[in-house]
Amino acid sequence: MDRYRQFHRRSLEDRDGFWRERAALVDWQTPFTSVLDYSRPPFARWFVGGRLNLCHNAVDRHLAARADRAALVYISTETGQDATYTYRQLHEEVNRCAAILRSLSVGRGDRVLVYMPMIPEAVFAMLACARIGAIHSVVFGGFAAASLATRIDDAKPEVMVTADAGMRGGKPIPYKHLVDDACRLAQHPPKHVLIVDRGLDPAMPRTAGRDLDYAQLRAEHAGAAVACAWLESSEPSYILYTSGTTGNPKGVQRDTGGYAVALVASMRDIFCVAPGETMFTTSDIGWVVGHSYIIYGPLLNGSTTIMYEGLPIRPDPAIWWKIVAEHKAVTMFSSPTAIRVLKKQDPAYMKRHDLGALKYLFLAGEPLDEPTARWAADALGVAIVDNYWQTESGWPILSAQPGVEDTPRKFGSPSFPAAGYDVRLLREDTGEEVGTGEKGVLALVPPLPPGCMSTVWGDDARFVKTYFETFPGKLAYSTFDWATRDEDGYYFVLGRTDDVINVAGHRLGTREIEEAVQAHAGIAEVAVVGVADSLKGQVPVAFAVAKDPARVASPEGIAAMRKEVMDTVDRELGAIARPGAVHFVTLLPKTRSGKLLRRSIQALAEGRDPGDLTTIEDPAALEQIKAALG
Ligand code: AMP
Repeated sequence: MDRYRQFHRRSLEDRDGFWRERAALVDWQTPFTSVLDYSRPPFARWFVGGRLNLCHNAVDRHLAARADRAALVYISTETGQDATYTYRQLHEEVNRCAAILRSLSVGRGDRVLVYMPMIPEAVFAMLACARIGAIHSVVFGGFAAASLATRIDDAKPEVMVTADAGMRGGKPIPYKHLVDDACRLAQHPPKHVLIVDRGLDPAMPRTAGRDLDYAQLRAEHAGAAVACAWLESSEPSYILYTSGTTGNPKGVQRDTGGYAVALVASMRDIFCVAPGETMFTTSDIGWVVGHSYIIYGPLLNGSTTIMYEGLPIRPDPAIWWKIVAEHKAVTMFSSPTAIRVLKKQDPAYMKRHDLGALKYLFLAGEPLDEPTARWAADALGVAIVDNYWQTESGWPILSAQPGVEDTPRKFGSPSFPAAGYDVRLLREDTGEEVGTGEKGVLALVPPLPPGCMSTVWGDDARFVKTYFETFPGKLAYSTFDWATRDEDGYYFVLGRTDDVINVAGHRLGTREIEEAVQAHAGIAEVAVVGVADSLKGQVPVAFAVAKDPARVASPEGIAAMRKEVMDTVDRELGAIARPGAVHFVTLLPKTRSGKLLRRSIQALAEGRDPGDLTTIEDPAALEQIKAALG
C-alpha cells in the first residue's frame, strides 16, 4: 500500500505542489497566482486568480484532438430514442443553447434552474450555463411543485429550462405542469420558461410571453458561436440543493477551478477512465453523482459518457450490460439499490453480454452490504468499488484508488481517504480522536480539498454553523456519518448521526417529510423515521396523530387517511419521499422537554430495543407505537 500512502500523504503535506501538478490537467485562460487562499477559515479558495471556463474544458478543448469522437451517448429505453453526439456536435448544441440563454438576457452570475428528465438538452443547458458564466441549479425531476418553489425562491433564477414530460416505465410523467404550479407558488418566479417539447404531453399548458419553445429558438440560433466567459476560479459554477435536518434544503455551492481540477484528477486516480474511453453512470442529472460522473467528470476528461433514460430492468434486466458491451464502457458507476434490484432477477441476464471491456463497477450513495457486493463481483467478474461521498464533497471522500495503486478491498469498506481529504474520526462530545475500531463521527480537517462545496448559496453563516460547529473547540467539517477505522486503515461507514435518511441512495430529511405530512389539515403531529429495508436501504415510516381521532377509528377511516397523507407528501415533496407506511397513534414519545424520541421509535420499528428511556414524558406513547406496528 506504499504507493497509495505516499500519494495521500503528499496531498496533505505538500498541498501546493500536489494540487499545482493536478491543476495542469485543465486549461487555464489566465494562470492562478496561488494554489490556495485559506486566510478566512473554513472558507477555502482554490487556484486564486486563475481564470478558466468549465464548458471550454469539457467541450472546446477536446475539439483539436477528438472532434469526431463520441462525447455523449444518449439512450432512452422509454422513448426508443438513441443519439450520439461527437465533441463537435456537442460544441454546436451547447453554443446554440448558450445563444438562446444570452438572447433571454441571462448573464454571468445569473441563475438558471434546470428541471429536466434525462435528455441531452439537459446536458446542453448545463454546459451552456457554464459557457456564459451563469449558475445552473438542477432540481431532480422527482421533486414536487412545492419543493421546486422553495428552490426557485432561494436561487431566484432568471430562466427555467424544462420539458413537457419525462417517462418512467413507459408512462409519461409531467414536468411542465409542475413548473407552472411551482411558478404560482413561488415569490420570485423566473421571467422565462424554456420548454423542450418531446411530444409526450399534448395537454401541456403554455403561458404566452413567459414560455418559450426550445426547438424554435434552437432553429433561430443555428451556427451560433458564443464566447466562453472566463471565470475566476472561485466564481460559482452551480448550486445543488440537498436535504438536512431542517425543513429547508441547503444550496450547496460549487466553485469552478477547484471542481474542474478535482474531477479530472478523480477520473484518473479513482475511476481509471482515460480520455477516449467510456464511462457509464446510471444516476440522474438531478443528483451530485449525475453532475460529476454523467456530465462533468467524463467530459472534462475527454472521455465518452453514457446518459440513460429508463429502468434497469426494462425491456429486460440485461439492458445495462447490453449498453456496457455495445459501448465498451471501462468503468460503470451505480448504486447498491440498483444492484439489489438486479439481484432479484435471473442471474443469466448478467452473463448475456460480453463485458470484456468493463474493469470496474463503482457503487455509492448508501451503504453497500456484503451480500450485494459479493453477488455483483461473482455475477460480473469485475472489481466492485464501494466509494463514500456526499453532495457537499462533489467527488469521493473515501474510495479505493486503483489509478494510484490497486490496493486490496475489504467488503463493507469504502477503503481509504482520497487526495486532499484529512479524515478523522472524532468523538461527538469532546472532539477527540477515537482509537482503532472505535466509533466516531467522520470529520474532515479543513481546508476541504478542491471540488468540495465552497459555501451554502447566499448564506455563509449557515455553511459554518451547519458543518463546522459540531465539535467543541475544534474547527472540523462534520459529514454527519458515524464510522470506524480498522488496524489496516480501512474505514467502515455506519450511518448518519442526524435525522437524515437514505432511501435508495436518495438523501431525505425526516424533518422535511414531517413538514410535508403536516401540510395535511387533518394531522396534528407526526414523527417520521427511517426504517431498514432490504431493497432500498431505508424507507420513511410515519407515526401520525390525527386532529380528529374519529377519522381513524375504523379500518376504512385509517385506510382513507393513510392515502390522503401519502398523496399530500407526493404533492408537497414528491413521490420519492412518500412514507412506506403511515401509522396512527394519539400520542408521540417525547422527552420531558418535548423532543421527539426518534431513535426509540426507529428502534421499535426495526424490532430493536428502544434504548434509554429515562427522559420519556409518557411511556404509554411507546406502547402505542408498538401496538401500531402490530
Ligand atoms: P448524498 O449527499 O445524497 O449523496 O448523500 C450522502 C450520504 O449518503 C452520506 O452522508 C452517507 O450517509 C451516505 N453514503 C454515501 N455513500 C456511501 C457509502 N459508500 N457507504 C455508506 N454510506 C454512504
